[in-house]
Formats: sequence, C-alpha cells, structure tokens
Amino acid sequence: MGGHMGGGSQMKDYAAYSFWLETCGDSLTPRPPLDGSIDVDIAILGAGYSGLWTAYYLLKRDPTLSVAVVEKEIAGFGASGRNGAWCTPGFPRSLSSLEEQYGRVAARAVQTAMYDAVDEVGRVAEAEGLDIQWTKGGSLRIARHPHQLPALTSAMKNYERMGLADHVQLLDAKQANERVTIAGMLGAIYNSGTATIHPGRLVRGLARVVERLGGTIYEQTEVTDYTTGAHPALHTPRGDVRARTIVLCGEAYLSQLKKVGRNLIPVYSLITLTEPLSAAQWAEIGWEARETVGSNRYTVDYLSKTADGRILFGGRGAPYHFGSSIKDEYDRHGPTHAMLQENVRTWFPMLKDVKFTHTWGGPLGWPRDFMPTMSYDPIEGLATARAYTGTGVATANLSGRVLADLITGQDSEIVQLPTVGHRSRNWEPEPFRWLGVRYVQRGFMKLDQKAEATGIAPNGKSLVERLTKH
Ligand SMILES: Cc1cc2nc3c(=O)[nH]c(=O)nc-3n(C[C@H](O)[C@H](O)[C@H](O)COP(=O)(O)OP(=O)(O)OC[C@H]3O[C@@H](n4cnc5c(N)ncnc54)[C@H](O)[C@@H]3O)c2cc1C
Repeated sequence: MGGHMGGGSQMKDYAAYSFWLETCGDSLTPRPPLDGSIDVDIAILGAGYSGLWTAYYLLKRDPTLSVAVVEKEIAGFGASGRNGAWCTPGFPRSLSSLEEQYGRVAARAVQTAMYDAVDEVGRVAEAEGLDIQWTKGGSLRIARHPHQLPALTSAMKNYERMGLADHVQLLDAKQANERVTIAGMLGAIYNSGTATIHPGRLVRGLARVVERLGGTIYEQTEVTDYTTGAHPALHTPRGDVRARTIVLCGEAYLSQLKKVGRNLIPVYSLITLTEPLSAAQWAEIGWEARETVGSNRYTVDYLSKTADGRILFGGRGAPYHFGSSIKDEYDRHGPTHAMLQENVRTWFPMLKDVKFTHTWGGPLGWPRDFMPTMSYDPIEGLATARAYTGTGVATANLSGRVLADLITGQDSEIVQLPTVGHRSRNWEPEPFRWLGVRYVQRGFMKLDQKAEATGIAPNGKSLVERLTKH
C-alpha cells in the first residue's frame, strides 16, 4: 500500500490507512463537519472506541441526552481503525505491579473488569447487529528463548495467588505447538479470555449505532482547544460545541493539544499483513482457534490471524519523534516493517516466500506510568479516557461504561477501579523527553538482543529497566 492521499483530490484516501479501514464494508465518506456553534449536553472529542463507547452508554442510559462527537478526520481514523485486533483482557500494568501499588483486591477488580469488557464488546456487537468477526479463541503468550520461560511461570503463579487461574493454563512446547506451530517455541501461557475482532468493523459500526441512538458525529472538524469550568466547550475553527460536560477521547493525538499535551506521548506501533495463506499452509501451522499470539519481548510483538486467513504481525520498533510529532509519513517505517516481515519468515519458516499485501501503523498513547486514566470532574465539566499504552480495544469499552456511570451519577463497582480519577505525571519537556524516550527504546532493543544472545533474562537492574519500572 502506498500513500494516504486519494488520486488528484485533496480528500484523504482513508482506506489506505489500514487493512481494517479498507475492508470495513463502508465507503468511508466523511460525515458533514460542524457548521457553526451549537449547545449540547455532552461534547466528545474523538470518534474512536473511547469516544463512541462513551456516547453509546450515555445514550443507552439516558436517551434524552444530546451528545455530539467531534472528529478531526473520520470515525476510526486513529488506533481504533488500525490495531492488532486483540480484544484482550490484558492491561498495560501487570497484575503484580497493580497489586504492589493498589493492593490485591483492586488488582483483582481490574483484571475481572477487563475479562468482562472483552465479553461486553462481543455481546453489544451481537445485540446491535455488528458483524465484527468476534472470535473468542484465547491468547498465547509464548517463550521462544529459554530466558523467557521463567516469566511465564511467574505470571502463572500470580494468577493462582489471586484466584484468577481459571482462565489460564501453562503449556509446554508440545502443547503450545499443537495450537500454533512456531519455530523455536518452548512454551506458552494460554488465556481463554481473549477474543479477536475486525477492528474497523467495530469502530465504523459503533459510529452508526451511536447515530441510531440519536448522537451526532461531526467529522473533518478539528478541536483546537477547549474550555472547562462554568462554560465548558470544545473549540474548533468551525464553531464551538458548548456542553455541560466535555469528554477528551483523543488518545495519542491528545499530545497535540497544548493543555494536556505532555500527559502522554505518541508511540508508533507498526503492522505487516500477509496474503491469505493456502489450506496447505494452514494445515502445517494449525492456529485453528485464532488465538492471539505474542511473546514477552521488551520491544513487543503481537500476532493475530484474520478471518480471511492472513497473518498479522505487529511490533513497536519505530522511533519516537521529537516534540511528540505525529505525521502520516510515520505510519510506515522501512526498517521496522522489514524487521516484522523477517519475523514472519523466522517464526513460520514454511512461509519463506509469502507475500505481504499491507503495511501500516499508527500512534498509541503512552502515559509516564503506563496507567490508563478514566476521570470526570463535575466542577470543571471535564471527563477523559486515555493512555491505554497499546491495550485499548477492550479497555476503551470499560472506559465508556465508567464515564457513562460517572457522568450520570450512577454508582457501580467499576467507578471504584484505580484507573478512575488517576493522574499520570507529565512527561519531561523537550529535548529531555526525546533523549529519554529514545534511550529507553534503544535500551529495550539491546535488552532483547542481549538476552536472546546469552540466554539470560534481564535482571531488572539496568537503568532502562529501573526507569520503566512501575
Ligand atoms: C498499530 C496499533 C496496534 C494496536 N493493537 C492493539 C491490539 O491489538 N489490542 C489492543 O487492545 N490495543 C491495541 N492498540 C491500541 C488501541 O487500538 C487503542 O488503545 C484504542 O483504539 C484507543 O481508542 P481511542 O478511541 O481512545 O483512540 P483512537 O482510536 O486513537 O481515537 C482517537 C480519535 O480522536 C481523533 N482526534 C484526535 N485529536 C483530535 C482533535 N484535536 N480534534 C478532533 N478529533 C481528534 C482522532 O482522529 C481519532 O479518530 C493498538 C494501537 C495501534 C496504533
């Protein structure tokens, strides 16, 4: 796939941003933009999963609410239309780090809420008639090097200690390879709580459902600033959206707004996709249940199998750009995409001649402490859901329900989660931010390379590990 501009016209070719947008089944024609200032009850910035789930649950709770979603491009333009298709109960922070900071009960509550969120995505999609290819095949977190095995055992122990082992199973090499045949796989943890989806169909379908419920989505309308306090509003060059509550759901792109800019940074995650494999190739590989697959490398790899029989291989090798810059041209990074394609050939040697039909990528939102935020301040009239650090597909559904509960004043177990009202400290100003993030990104690569060369797991004492410990 080439660039993002449609032939001759200035309109962006949105289908070129990802395989998911290309195959979501609608024309991606932008909805009309805002045309002058308006007054509503709730004004939401961003038509990704977070903004749309928030609108959805608000309108379900109270159909009399007027809800406007303001989107710079089109619904699903961001990470929601580009991701790795893992609808995962995985959370950016590990169970043990949540337990250390918030206690066992809260850590367990987060994990349980995440399991529920995966099922809720499937349940609502079905109830609303969205064909999102939701398949609950579970996940495999695999070890391909001996040093990765102890992490699997200790993760298993954490699940057991917290009474959450029902969903998980430690697999030896034979058991793991019976599910998916991967070169060098030594073992895995299987977790039955994960589903795969068609991300584009979910986000585009959700936008239509929100409209059906009475919400309005203004596309091609950039929010350039906002006001909180007595008169909350989203400001755009096409007018203001004044509201009782404004909701910021722009994830990585919030880094471009002055008032919240340093709260999270855009980190690019990139994906490559193979052509559909033949029946003979699948017979060799297995992967019948369509589990999501990933290892526990610092540099992150994530795989899924599409409904039409392709392998998606994603990873985070692309560099952070100075000043939290976000540009279409960063969606493709030659060396990282080449590395991902090489990984496909290494993990699946029988695919040495496979063709790759798509490459794409996009920014995800990294907070300083890897902890998502779901918050509402009634005095300021400001709510936000953000900072998923790469696991936002199910988490954004949880956010939508949390924000709807908070805004409509409904008490629930999920509004007690430690993500609620959480504040991550800001990232450093430039140039320190760029120096620090690039140091960490390079450090992660070196840690993986060294561990793979020596067979010894990182010991947690390097500067990079200490800097990123939460
Ligand atoms: C390549 C990639 C792979 C990923 N893989 C997975 C995965 O497999 N599983 C998983 O759980 N998570 C994954 N994630 C993360 C997940 O996709 C996101 O966390 C989730 O989609 C975030 O949803 P969101 O609605 O908060 O943000 P987004 O989907 O990014 O939506 C934000 C929206 O706000 C709009 N916007 C931003 N600024 C403005 C503005 N100023 N004015 C108006 N509109 C604005 C944007 O155009 C965008 O449409 C991945 C992310 C990426 C980039």
